[in-house]
Amino acid sequence: MRIIEGVKDLMALYKDYSTMSKDEKADFYEAKCDYYQKYVELGLMVGCLSSVCFLFFDYVINGSYQPTLLPRLLVLGFAVVFLILTHIMKSRRATVYLDYILGHVMALTAIWAIYNLDDRDYSGEIFLIMNLIWITVGFAARPHENALSYLIFLAEILISHTIIGYDDIGIIIALEIISAVAVILSHCLLMLYFLDHYRIRQQLELAMITDPLTQVYNRHLLEKIVSRNTLKEVNEGEPVAIAMLDIDYFKKINDEHGHYTGDLTLLYIGQKLSKETHDDDYVIRYGGEEFVIILKNCDVNNACARMEQFRRDIESSKDTPVPFTVSIGVSRYTGDYSKSIQNVDTALNKAKNSGRNKVVVV
Ligand code: GH3
Ligand code: MG
Ligand code: MG
Repeated sequence: MRIIEGVKDLMALYKDYSTMSKDEKADFYEAKCDYYQKYVELGLMVGCLSSVCFLFFDYVINGSYQPTLLPRLLVLGFAVVFLILTHIMKSRRATVYLDYILGHVMALTAIWAIYNLDDRDYSGEIFLIMNLIWITVGFAARPHENALSYLIFLAEILISHTIIGYDDIGIIIALEIISAVAVILSHCLLMLYFLDHYRIRQQLELAMITDPLTQVYNRHLLEKIVSRNTLKEVNEGEPVAIAMLDIDYFKKINDEHGHYTGDLTLLYIGQKLSKETHDDDYVIRYGGEEFVIILKNCDVNNACARMEQFRRDIESSKDTPVPFTVSIGVSRYTGDYSKSIQNVDTALNKAKNSGRNKVVVV
């Protein structure tokens, strides 16, 4: 039955959610806000326009637009301020707070309008309609932020009751509590379903930057690093070195031992490079049997020593699919990616042209 499968999925997603670290949760909510915020903003703008449309409802009750004109139109002014501030403030928390502030401005102006109505019998219905706003805003928020906003909303109703004196305050509060539970629970479910989407996106992003044969990064990662200029940021505080490694006479390995052995050799070197570099270094399969290694917090002398050790290890290794050697070019990362790659390529060519199986620095 589909419902049982749904419950099982939710339980698995909840288990995943409950084992996420604080940082992972922060990243998850960031991604959820990034994904939904544009719809939330659209929903809030529709909500603001609906507030203005309530003038028609007010006219039916009061026989005039005058008494509620100011609170109904005031919402539009806040909507403009909201659009400006959300454009300037980019953090998730600030964005969600702004969403809720605009939602509460709508609630407070609705209360002000109710105060100016000749007949307040429909206050309960107006408050129930407000739940559409809390449903909308909850998409970008964390469940506890939604719960806190509901508590504030209930306080607004109770405080305004001391001034306005709603006839059916008990029923209004009871219905709002039921709505709050329903909306918060729905958002908890949607949050877990978004986790499914978030995990799939993470897997796709990882697959995009991973070489399927060697399991090291592929050139997509290099393009990302270059386009986001992340190396330059690192380079300001610490030295970064680049190495380019190429297997010597690899074509011969393919020709003499077959492509399967060639593939195993590539896998071997990819795994060995990953094992022998640091966690924050990058090992990238650059081309067929060429690898680029970005060594962070490592000056060129240190990089040269580490690569020389690696070259020797390969030369003397007994567990390779077939005996082989590598040539390696090393260069300092200059802050200019193209120039650095050119330098390291030149170094590799020098290593090849001077007899292979060596490390050359440019
Ligand atoms: P050099 O010492 O000058 O680097 O010579 P080489 O034979 O290593 O270089 P060359 O560029 O002549 O040959 C590279 C070979 O790598 C040719 C190509 O068939 C092989 N190759 C590229 N990608 C793969 C792969 O994914 N698997 C296998 N098995 N071979 C590959
Ligand atoms: Mg080669
Ligand atoms: Mg090559």
